[in-house]
Amino acid sequence: MTIEFLHRTAFVLLAIFVASAATNAQSSARANANTGPGWQWPASSDGITYVPVCWENPAGWQNETLSVRNTILTTWGRAAKVNFYGWAQCTTNAKGIRILIADTRSNSGIGRFLDGDRNGMELNFTFRNFSPGCQAENRRYACITSIAVHEFGHALGLMHEQDRADSTCNAEKSKSGGLLLTAYDPDSVMNYCNPRWNNDGRLSPLDIKGIQILYGARSAVPVTPPKPSVTPGRLTITDTLNTAAGQRWEHIIMQFGSNNIRRDFALNENRTTVSNSWTFNTTGTYCFKIWSNTLYTDGLYYDGYGEGCWQLEAGKSYAASVRFKTGTGKKAFDIVLTSGN
Ligand SMILES: [Zn+2]
Repeated sequence: MTIEFLHRTAFVLLAIFVASAATNAQSSARANANTGPGWQWPASSDGITYVPVCWENPAGWQNETLSVRNTILTTWGRAAKVNFYGWAQCTTNAKGIRILIADTRSNSGIGRFLDGDRNGMELNFTFRNFSPGCQAENRRYACITSIAVHEFGHALGLMHEQDRADSTCNAEKSKSGGLLLTAYDPDSVMNYCNPRWNNDGRLSPLDIKGIQILYGARSAVPVTPPKPSVTPGRLTITDTLNTAAGQRWEHIIMQFGSNNIRRDFALNENRTTVSNSWTFNTTGTYCFKIWSNTLYTDGLYYDGYGEGCWQLEAGKSYAASVRFKTGTGKKAFDIVLTSGN
């Protein structure tokens, strides 16, 4: 298999595991983690471990950074009592995990040792130089998110599974030994010999068990994503039956936004104007598609289709109306943004 990861901090990690090897019972290891070598992020008084996360250079990577955030919150953040929060651009002296987006071999420091470390984690979103098999757009997001799960495992203090003395995997094995949380796990996201690369970004049962030993098990309550730091934006689309042009009846379906949420517009003689609204949480590029079926006074139905994208700012309200482009035989749309405030 292809080896994609690198330990910049293998030396430090080795020291950690030597230090904790004397207390390899899980209960004493946990106590040791709180008072001893300091690689484990400390829990707050409410039992939750809060870990700030920020991006060194997020500009232009909104979809990728959102995917990473959502993936981490629904894997490590859902299994264990660890709240990764923030996820905005790093300030100069930001603490926590500081992620640089770079076309390099993705990597991360280990546990709390990367707290506030500039470029403490590096994630590759383009794969031009490393893992070119991830370049294809239908592979890229799967690579981005599964690699992120692996690197955040390091950020929580986890070591490569194949480095265990009882591992049969010899891929980049560094034989560092270490604190054993579970039985050897061939399915771990941290195991280079897993036939599914990074276990497809899914935590194995033993990954979950291990991280819960370290940080406590999350209760069954679903994780609520962090609130957006700005007021959501709003888009309102209005369709009016153009009776002067001979329209008698119209049904439109429009989908909008990253989740492709669809809304219906059903117009007739008694209801000649219909508006629908969508909200969006962050500034960015948003796309729509629209399908129509319209009955005219000549008794014929016409199908229409349109699509496009806008750059929209959070906190602003936009309004637009549905119009056919002229000269397109009622087959396309022209949706014009009329205001933002
Ligand atoms: Zn690794």
